[in-house]
Amino acid sequence: MSDNRYARQINCAAGFEQRKLHDSTVLIVGVGGLGCTASMTLAAAGVGSLQLCDHDTVSISNLNRQLLYTESDLGKGKAVVAAEKLKGLNPDTQCIPIASRFSAQSVEEFSRPDLILDCLDNMEARKELIAYAAQQGIPLVHAAIHGFAGQFSFFIPNQTACPFCVVSGDLDSGNAVIPSIGPCVTALASFQAVEAVKHLSGVGETCAGKMMFFDLLTNSVETLNIETDPACTACGKVQGGE
Ligand SMILES: [Zn+2]
Repeated sequence: MSDNRYARQINCAAGFEQRKLHDSTVLIVGVGGLGCTASMTLAAAGVGSLQLCDHDTVSISNLNRQLLYTESDLGKGKAVVAAEKLKGLNPDTQCIPIASRFSAQSVEEFSRPDLILDCLDNMEARKELIAYAAQQGIPLVHAAIHGFAGQFSFFIPNQTACPFCVVSGDLDSGNAVIPSIGPCVTALASFQAVEAVKHLSGVGETCAGKMMFFDLLTNSVETLNIETDPACTACGKVQGGE
């Protein structure tokens, strides 16, 4: 671990410990727009291990926002390409590609992560991921985008509300194609990465129990307190529902 690499961040907050980032494992599910920027910033910050889960291949319509990929990557598997690029960014970070759709089975052979990043773009897969996090008791940082709007939240199983406890708060529209502009996607992914760094290094306050909403077209930012729903279809069984 090179101290010089992290010289500008070791004094970023009282109590910040680079070693804690180095000793952490983060599972990033979805290496698209959110996942590219989140993984780049976490690798650059010195997170020790990143598990990159995505079944998809790089297509030309990804390149407006998925900053790890270039035209020479078209048709290649995102998880493998991302792991290779991130290794070049920071050899301190172990990058493990998981080139399959997320499921409990697809990640079972890998070490248990300290944190999960929900970088998905559809409700169905997101619900499966959050149910998994709830069952496993693994904290999760959620983000979703729609055009210039976005939201993020930090979910602690058995303690705070998950995104599906707040039905009206989810921006995804089923499995329809979501409008995505790069600067907005990368902004929300950076907020996810900030939540991850705070949680893993033990500084500051995460937005657990809150949902942050952004409309960057109109410069609107809102923070709502969110309550656990015992009947939540994603986390309800774990949080005390039937
Ligand atoms: Zn819930």
